[in-house]
Amino acid sequence: MQYQTAVELLGRVPRTPFTVKTFCPDGSPQVLLANPVFIEDGIWKPFPTFLWLVCPRLKTQVADLEQHGKIKEFSQKLDSDDEFREKFLHGQSEISLLRLEMAEKIYPGELPEHIKEILSETTIAGSRDFRGVKCLHSHLAQELAFHNNPIGEAVLNSVKKCSKTDNCGEYCTTRSSQ
Ligand SMILES: [Zn+2]
Repeated sequence: MQYQTAVELLGRVPRTPFTVKTFCPDGSPQVLLANPVFIEDGIWKPFPTFLWLVCPRLKTQVADLEQHGKIKEFSQKLDSDDEFREKFLHGQSEISLLRLEMAEKIYPGELPEHIKEILSETTIAGSRDFRGVKCLHSHLAQELAFHNNPIGEAVLNSVKKCSKTDNCGEYCTTRSSQ
């Protein structure tokens, strides 16, 4: 991906290298996968929210859901629905493992203990509370990338999915040039 595009997609200069994990049907980036840890000015920085939803169509729709109280609704579901919670926690432990593996691969034998701890004890939304929902964008990003997040799955079922004719990339360029 061109650097310019990355800045456009994120709205800022990326602090850590990333790749495009999934694409929208029109071929534009949908979810980015960043390195889960990086070093800035000699200091280790954990980056547990390493999946970023960048499709502007999905982002807008998810923001609407958040405004309509969906975060609270999912938090309550995590408390009251055992099966849903089990599935959610299972997906989060898969993500922890994957993040740690990625980080170990990038910095073999170098990861400080406190970084390992953060990467293994934080949800995809960057919460240390495993029943904390915090942000629906990250849950949807995880579902799109790894198909193991029931909150993301429910979000995906309540938004209008991207199609080939939607031209998500074009939508992005139009919006960011405004
Ligand atoms: Zn899209």
